[in-house]
Amino acid sequence: MQTYLLKHATLATLYPAKIEQADLRVAEGKIIEKGAELPRRDGDIEVDCSGKLMLPGMVCAHTHLYSALARGMPGPKEPPINFPQILEKVWWKLDRALDEEAIYYSAVAGILDAIACGTTTIIDHHASPGCISGSLKIMKEAFEMLGMRGVLCYEVTDRGGEAERDQGIEENRWLLEHQSELVKGLVGAHAAFTLSDESLKMCAGLVRAYQTGIHIHLAEDVCDVKTSLDQYDKSVASRLASFGLLNDKSLLAHGVHVSREELAWIRNIWCWLIHNPRSNMNNAVGYAPIDEFGDRAALGTDGISSNMFEEIKCMYFKAQDEKVPFGPEECIRFLNGGQRIASTLFGLPIGALEVGAAADLIVLDYPSPTPIHAGNLGGHLIFGMTHAHVDSVMIAGKFVLQNRHFTHPDATAFYQQAQQAAAKLWQRMS
Ligand SMILES: [Zn+2]
Repeated sequence: MQTYLLKHATLATLYPAKIEQADLRVAEGKIIEKGAELPRRDGDIEVDCSGKLMLPGMVCAHTHLYSALARGMPGPKEPPINFPQILEKVWWKLDRALDEEAIYYSAVAGILDAIACGTTTIIDHHASPGCISGSLKIMKEAFEMLGMRGVLCYEVTDRGGEAERDQGIEENRWLLEHQSELVKGLVGAHAAFTLSDESLKMCAGLVRAYQTGIHIHLAEDVCDVKTSLDQYDKSVASRLASFGLLNDKSLLAHGVHVSREELAWIRNIWCWLIHNPRSNMNNAVGYAPIDEFGDRAALGTDGISSNMFEEIKCMYFKAQDEKVPFGPEECIRFLNGGQRIASTLFGLPIGALEVGAAADLIVLDYPSPTPIHAGNLGGHLIFGMTHAHVDSVMIAGKFVLQNRHFTHPDATAFYQQAQQAAAKLWQRMS
């Protein structure tokens, strides 16, 4: 594998914030040396980063790449009036229409977009009930071909009956048996309100067998809470916990309708709560009590791209609008949460510009009219930096974007092919 010597960058670590000047040497997917004026060695490719800002790569802690081909698609004839209708009229129509080609190009287009935004790890929650078996293999191939780091799972659900549920379970098992350096697995489940006790028990069997966690939507809308109380006489989180599904690798997306008391015991179990501000606003499901999410909180996009520069801005502005006392640093803590999750799931430091950490980093061409220091990095991230400043992206020691160009030679063709796949997908949905 190629060795790189990255010279003269200003290194900006997000949380805790740190700004420093140093050179980095990268080999075998990791940062192997850091220091002032590192000498060039035989075989090094030297990259001059003078005047540029280098950050650890962004991690999107919850998304659905299957929605990548939904951009601009026609809406339903009758607009949905609540969250269950949004699922039924939009997303459950779209995911059932996905075939192998649409799954592949959703993943490819979503990954390319993520790379261009400086996202270096995508934690995905996949559903394609018309094409379950083999879907994660298709996605895994897209991640590995484009050099993206990912955590994949299949959303197990009862909404299509037992046979589809069983295929979903097996799809998760397949990925957990075929993890690679770039692609890891979790046990996916849609949401408690579409899962019977028997199905949750099957998910728990996988969680135990592979010593991993579950990735599930938690109390995104009141419908999840109401179903749990009416049919099972338990809160959503207590029902999941009663099957042993909550542990320190479990990712609970949204957590909008969770009481403060319940958040206190969820924090004690050490599972992760993933805030998705743009999606919550878009679906009008409510505002999550993020000031009670605690230390193990992260930021996701829930399918609205994997652009963490946009997501963190929306998180911040929504918090101000709701009068939640979250400054830029608190928002960065959530962003860093994704890097901490990735570090746990990949078993190596991700999100640090230090020796031994994954060489997942982004180089920004960010001309700032004001000084940048550790005390105001958050202010720059919220009010200054955007994805448009992303100049180069390295994942696991390989440049996937350099000087604003994808390094994969077929990237332009992939976008054209994705457009054709999208047109066919929309046709099947109509
Ligand atoms: Zn989601």
